[in-house]
Amino acid sequence: MSAAEGGADRLVAEIARLRREREAVILAHNYQIGEVQDIADFVGDSLELSRKAAAVADARVIVFCGVLFMAETAKILSPGKMVLLPDSRAGCPLANMITAEQVRSLKQKHPGVPVVTYVNSSAEVKAESDICCTSANAVRVVESLQAPEVIFAPDRNLGAWVAAHTNKRLIIWDGYCPTHDRILPEQITALRHAHPEAVVMVHPECRPAVTALADQVLSTGGMLRFARESQATEFVVGTELGILHRMRLENPGKTFIPVSRLMTCPNMKRITLEKVLWSLEDLREQVLVPEPVRERAERAIRRMLEVT
Ligand code: SF4
Repeated sequence: MSAAEGGADRLVAEIARLRREREAVILAHNYQIGEVQDIADFVGDSLELSRKAAAVADARVIVFCGVLFMAETAKILSPGKMVLLPDSRAGCPLANMITAEQVRSLKQKHPGVPVVTYVNSSAEVKAESDICCTSANAVRVVESLQAPEVIFAPDRNLGAWVAAHTNKRLIIWDGYCPTHDRILPEQITALRHAHPEAVVMVHPECRPAVTALADQVLSTGGMLRFARESQATEFVVGTELGILHRMRLENPGKTFIPVSRLMTCPNMKRITLEKVLWSLEDLREQVLVPEPVRERAERAIRRMLEVT
């Protein structure tokens, strides 16, 4: 065993000891680094993690390995638990592209039009919303509303994807995920030529010109399911690179080709094993949501969970 492997083993053993001592559960998003996914009790996409956070019963502490809006969602759904984000700088540029004040202005401009907010948003923005959605359920959530017109925020690409799959008229906020918006249609075309047998899967946070070229447009949870169940053996993957860890583990006979080696979200990569350990040791950084905001945000998230 190398010194580095020995060090990692010690870290993992110490995390396991502290997890028991603190009565903690570790949740990790599919975009986390492989080592962090490997020590998590549960790994999933935003919808799966929201469901898990709402159902965690036998823990006092939730260590959330993801970005701030996800940890806030866990706190909103499990207010009695201590929720820790191992690096408080792990934010989401997309979530930061809209404020609660801007949602209030949108509502004033479009009175009576319901607001659907992607979970990639702050607790304050969720509190201003009628209902939340994730990339896995966005079309179903929009379809569940009676109104013919819907405000959709903050991701313009997911909004365009939903608009193309519903008869509702969408008023779409102009936010985007810098990681997914980076993929260009030319890259998909080049990969199709290089790998004619491969199934092309992309995330709906990609540009419409990119989703138009894909065989499958799926959330990360949807991609993992599709990769497991498909008869195909080669896949082009248009989302954050962290997902490849689980895809390759779960499908040893299949090949997964990332659209680009540059598809990393620097915020997701802030969480390391060391930071998970320090977080459990010192019980920090604690994620707090003021109660009036939490209550209103919870309504929007629970309404989404009821739809799906
Ligand atoms: Fe935000 Fe995009 Fe990173 Fe997800 S991948 S956390 S949407 S910046």
